[in-house]
Amino acid sequence: MADREFALVLHDIAPATWPDYRSFVEQIDGMGQIPMTWLVVPDFHHRSNTFEDAGMLRLLHQRMARGDELALHGFYHCDDAPPPRTPRDYFMRRLYTYEGEFYPIEYDEALERLERGAELFRREDWPLDGFVAPAWLLGDGARRALKTQGFTYTSDPEHLYRLPDYTAIKAPSLVWSARSRWRRGMSWVVNERARRRHRREPLIRLGLHPVDMRHDISRRYWIDTIRRLLEEGYQPTTKISWLHRQSNSTPETLAMSSS
Ligand SMILES: [Zn+2]
Repeated sequence: MADREFALVLHDIAPATWPDYRSFVEQIDGMGQIPMTWLVVPDFHHRSNTFEDAGMLRLLHQRMARGDELALHGFYHCDDAPPPRTPRDYFMRRLYTYEGEFYPIEYDEALERLERGAELFRREDWPLDGFVAPAWLLGDGARRALKTQGFTYTSDPEHLYRLPDYTAIKAPSLVWSARSRWRRGMSWVVNERARRRHRREPLIRLGLHPVDMRHDISRRYWIDTIRRLLEEGYQPTTKISWLHRQSNSTPETLAMSSS
């Protein structure tokens, strides 16, 4: 099968999470030239500031220079808006995740955080094409704000969306839920099934989280999966490099209206 690619995506990049990732990234680097997309959080949980950490900035500059992609992943990452008031909000913001920073905030707040994030990237001279909302959750206000900011794409677990019109392009992800033992056991099964089900897709994304690195089963799963994809002839890519090579009229593309 020709032209299948995979994109290795590291979520939640900040000084606080780098110790989790470091040896994993070294191991991947040892497997060859495998570009990665780094989802950078400017100020993780208000207490781990990427852009004030000289070592972190040096690292990210080095990754850029070797062909990796840096994308913006929220600003604080955590949801610290006032408590949810409706059952749906309670589900989304307390049961599903506590990390949906861009779900509850209004247009103005989202705009302000996007502008500040983009400004930090500009200051470092880093190109900025992608915005990925924490927990992939974009509220209505954030969704409208994101259209105005000149980003090339955003994503959720199933799709990449070309901005500003949110044109959906199918690009399934493998993702672990590594928080508890039973979720980790389930994740292995769920992800293996998904990998086989999507084996005809031109792009598969691997969405990695810092917690995956703390458990042998998930960490090993990612290493084994990357090795297997390479053996099967998949080419590694970044999300933006893959997107740049797609025409706007691929058959997988379907227009999705935006609010
Ligand atoms: Zn995240």
